[in-house]
Amino acid sequence: MQSIQAIRGMNDILPDQIGWWQRVEQTARELLSSFGYREIRTPVIEKLDLFARSIGESTDIVEKEMYAFPDRKGEMLALRPEATASIVRAFIQHNLQADPLAKKLYAIGPMFRHERPQKGRYRQFYQIDAEAFGIDDPMLDAEVMHMLRLFLERLGLTGVVLHINSLGCQECRQDYRDLLKEFLEKNVAELCPDCQRRRHTNPLRTFDCKVERCQAILADAPVLLHSICGACADHFESVKSYLDQLKTAYVINPRMVRGLDYYMRTTFEVITDRLGAQNAVGGGGRYNGLLRDLGGPDLPGIGFAIGMERLILLLQQEQSEAQRCPKIFVASLGASARDTCFLLAQQLRSLGLETEIDYEGASLKSQMRRADRLGVRHVLIMGDEEISRGEVQCRDMMNKTQTVLPLEAVAPRLQEIYKEEITENGSR
Ligand code: AMP
Repeated sequence: MQSIQAIRGMNDILPDQIGWWQRVEQTARELLSSFGYREIRTPVIEKLDLFARSIGESTDIVEKEMYAFPDRKGEMLALRPEATASIVRAFIQHNLQADPLAKKLYAIGPMFRHERPQKGRYRQFYQIDAEAFGIDDPMLDAEVMHMLRLFLERLGLTGVVLHINSLGCQECRQDYRDLLKEFLEKNVAELCPDCQRRRHTNPLRTFDCKVERCQAILADAPVLLHSICGACADHFESVKSYLDQLKTAYVINPRMVRGLDYYMRTTFEVITDRLGAQNAVGGGGRYNGLLRDLGGPDLPGIGFAIGMERLILLLQQEQSEAQRCPKIFVASLGASARDTCFLLAQQLRSLGLETEIDYEGASLKSQMRRADRLGVRHVLIMGDEEISRGEVQCRDMMNKTQTVLPLEAVAPRLQEIYKEEITENGSR
């Protein structure tokens, strides 16, 4: 019978990869906490309307990429294609405005987009997402980007560039939209059918078009950054000045519009040249009208999302991670030693020491082979003789030395040896 495979573009993350994921998540959690962000977890399914209203009806995500379906009662639902809309919904629904500790939130979890899978682009992918509500000051825009830089730095990632832009506010965008429409009208014959349509529905979205011909035409289009109003220009100047003070390097990319309608003023992306076409590792921006548009208080917001798969692909290109393996193997010789070995292993584990044992009554030789393959540092050996003397043979696999320890001294001795690692790495 043919076995069932995972859905195209949806990946299993196997044990030999999980160390990368845990490291990235732990680094994110620590850093975000130090900037005052608290975790929130929202459902992966929401009402379709939430995404249509926030991301925008005429965006690629909503028009082409969303997993949308009616449930058994016919209500239209969607797998979340991004996290901001859900977090904003939760913020409004639970009146988190009233909670002084819930102004800055983060989430880590899977998102879903029906895109054509390739390296760095999947149909289920994970994002680390951070959102901050209620602060309009450009200081926060700079802080958010600075935090993103620190995060990548802490992971040891090099060779990524922060691109920034300002999309202006509703008012300056209105004037620009007319300019852009005029430009698109002049070139209409050369645009793809999608862009021909977009020039009426949402001209800014032509910048998201993946057709090369359209991109070539848009290279000569008027630039939004040049038409933003005085207040938006001042805001952008302040953001840049704070970034300079924070020594966070950036390039201004006036053609970066981001693929979602809710952004205004500051937008940014972290770009790499090492992942082929999938060059964005993360991105975000300000979305001051979104809470109000979703029926909440008129509070400003800003946030970003990092794609974990792309981040890990980059890290793997640069770094090799030491394989995580158990530290200790408890080998038993003979049936009566098994119970004592079993209890000793549980004692070591309860002290936070990664310990493996034999459950199958294998020969000592095959247990030693397994311990070797696992790459453990210490093997504890107990047979009937050791049990009767209340002793354990302790073999150091690195130095190839073997010592005899009293049974009750084994756990404290190993705890001593691994003490530093346990305090450095939590449960290790
Ligand atoms: P976006 O909200 O589209 O800017 O996405 C934020 C980040 O999520 C991107 O910079 C990518 O790193 C990641 N991302 C977006 N779409 C995908 C995808 N289909 N597969 C993998 N990662 C993605």
